[in-house]
Amino acid sequence: MLKFFITSLFFLVSSVTFSQDTDNIKTSFPLPDTNNIQQYFIGGDSVGIYTRCSLLCDSNITFIQLHEDETTGIDAAEEYLMTHGGFLVQLKHTGKRLVNFKLGNQVFNVDPNRIFSRVGIKNNMTKLALYKPEAAKQVNVFANNILKNYVNDKKLIVALHNNTEEKFSILSYEKGMPEAPNAAEVFINDDMDPDDFILTTDTSIYRKIKDKNINVVLQSSKAKDDGSLSVYAQRKKIPYINIEAQHGHLDEQKQMLFALKDIIEGYRELVDLNYVEDK
Ligand SMILES: [Zn+2]
Repeated sequence: MLKFFITSLFFLVSSVTFSQDTDNIKTSFPLPDTNNIQQYFIGGDSVGIYTRCSLLCDSNITFIQLHEDETTGIDAAEEYLMTHGGFLVQLKHTGKRLVNFKLGNQVFNVDPNRIFSRVGIKNNMTKLALYKPEAAKQVNVFANNILKNYVNDKKLIVALHNNTEEKFSILSYEKGMPEAPNAAEVFINDDMDPDDFILTTDTSIYRKIKDKNINVVLQSSKAKDDGSLSVYAQRKKIPYINIEAQHGHLDEQKQMLFALKDIIEGYRELVDLNYVEDK
């Protein structure tokens, strides 16, 4: 597999001083095939945000992986970027799903896909182990940096996730199942593994994916605010697609991602049209 040309640049910045360093991030966007790691502190521990772009390094579409242990998703994203180009954001810390950090003499855990609202952070930290307002505040600053730099002004967010066999799947959204209240519509292709599916917040994207005969969930606009990026994006009216596949289902995840090329590239074209109009 081709590897990205690597020019790594390390910045050691604290969450407090981060806002002064956004210019460094912005100037990295137009450069082709660049890699960059920014280190952020949450409490006494650092979390890296690893960004890469290939071919098309415009920042209008963000591909994002929040759970570092979901390596199948990142492999699929890399192949898409090498073929069609794009900008990829990935969290780097311990290699595990959860971010853990020390504050004072206590250890806190948080799921990085539950940090995009205050209520999400509070509920998740409480569920995982320990909640303290001062620790939640640090998580909130970190989350806001992700949103500000990679989400808020984007035309489309493409998230990659992996799940475990028969634990969380498109069947979880069927009537009477735990995720049903969070779904407005569900389309199931019985020939697909239910662990391999797409979730979107956008009705037109949902219809296009359904037309492609791919398992897909349209997230309800009334979905519970669990602090996930999908709920945040829906509330901010930023089109969001999560391509979810079972761990190890690289071919399936790639097939779903590549099948969305016309949809994804359509958002690039929208950007290009706006660019022409501005001229
Ligand atoms: Zn995940």
